[in-house]
Amino acid sequence: MFAKLASLLAGSPIRLTRVDLGDVVIDLPVADLVGHRPGKTLLVTGGVDGDEYAGILAAYQLIERNKNLDFAGRLIVIPVVNLPGFHAECSHNPIDGKFPKYVWSGQADRISGTSTDRLMNFIASFAHQADCWHDLHGGAITEGLNPFLWLYRTGNHQVDALADELVHYGVAPNIIYERTHFASKPATLAKHGCSYLIAESGSRGRLDQADVDRHLTWLTSTMQILGLIDGTPIKNSATVMTRVAYLTAPFDGLWQPANLAYAANELFVEQGTTIGAISRIDGTGNHELRAASGGTPLWWKETLRAKKGDILLAIGY
Ligand SMILES: [Zn+2]
Repeated sequence: MFAKLASLLAGSPIRLTRVDLGDVVIDLPVADLVGHRPGKTLLVTGGVDGDEYAGILAAYQLIERNKNLDFAGRLIVIPVVNLPGFHAECSHNPIDGKFPKYVWSGQADRISGTSTDRLMNFIASFAHQADCWHDLHGGAITEGLNPFLWLYRTGNHQVDALADELVHYGVAPNIIYERTHFASKPATLAKHGCSYLIAESGSRGRLDQADVDRHLTWLTSTMQILGLIDGTPIKNSATVMTRVAYLTAPFDGLWQPANLAYAANELFVEQGTTIGAISRIDGTGNHELRAASGGTPLWWKETLRAKKGDILLAIGY
């Protein structure tokens, strides 16, 4: 199905790995690092959304930090998962229009699946070997974001015990610890013994080093909790939220965020606060949108164009 190619970068631990997506064949960068001591396996991915750059850069810096293999266990880093999206500078895969983050069965058909199915099938082959999958995200080119960690309670005791520790020691200002349904991606991964978490840091596709450093701090915590590296993780003081409410675009049109105070680290939105207004492209149908629940703004859309169903604001509570 795929063959490892010799790295084009002399001395780099990254191997370009051929993945057949059906419509195209891509050479995906993969660093599969085995440490000097036995231990657990951690999968780290960046660029599942192809335009979330702080996470991609953090993944490359993680490889650089660990290329001397001075850790226990196995560290698999795939810094740019959605390579077609990365080349097109968008979150989704432009070949089939799907968002790789929403495609998950781990059993996608390699023959008849579309390119995103095949891509995520390839990622599943690593995830199913891992004790933990730390997935690096941030605000897309169109999005503002408050940094947060997103973890899941799956009902699998072993996997949830690790998630409990990650929540306890997750040095994030905001943490979502959400109960998930049995067919979800985290629950499916839990059946393979893999604990899944999403790390969100970075806004508007920017490359602020503070956002990259936050990702690296979180990765250090995850590696310490798993025992890949020594050291005691810093205890978390964040408020742990358990739910996410979404405000979505009711139709295609022009989105004008009314109050971007929350973008400047205003960390709470009251229920009923006007979030913005949407109108149709012909100027009719002006419609104010209000927060259905109070809580912490997690991410929000900052650009004018809105498509029906787009998430305009996600609130944790
Ligand atoms: Zn993302």
